Amino acid sequence: MKCPHCKSKMIVLELKQVEIDYCSQCEGIWLDTGEMELLLESLEKRDLLLVSFRLDPLSTEKKLRCPICRKKMQKAMAGLDSAILIDKCHRGHGLWFDKGELRQIVEQGSSPMNHEIMDLLENMFEYKLK
Ligand SMILES: [Zn+2]
Ligand SMILES: [Zn+2]
Repeated sequence: MKCPHCKSKMIVLELKQVEIDYCSQCEGIWLDTGEMELLLESLEKRDLLLVSFRLDPLSTEKKLRCPICRKKMQKAMAGLDSAILIDKCHRGHGLWFDKGELRQIVEQGSSPMNHEIMDLLENMFEYKLK
């Protein structure tokens, strides 16, 4: 699958038994529908975080195309304060997170149980430097 942001070929990484597509060029992450829920499984604030994925029709950020159906994705606000702007395929294929965005979201719902995911995300970002 090609990165919707920089068109590089993405690599598949396994995070908590969830296969995610990661671009080692721009460090973006693609999650298929439902994978976000799996990653946030142990979080108390999970529902809060997911409900916060409101669409932002006024965004002027460049629209990216869904790597699966190639249609333009919509901008959605995520995170507890809705400060993170992610891309969402309105056909329901999945979500795109620019560099660091997924980490920010996971971090906001941080609980002791969640350190494993945080560690994995840390390692993933170090992957590029090796
Ligand atoms: Zn990329
Ligand atoms: Zn799509």
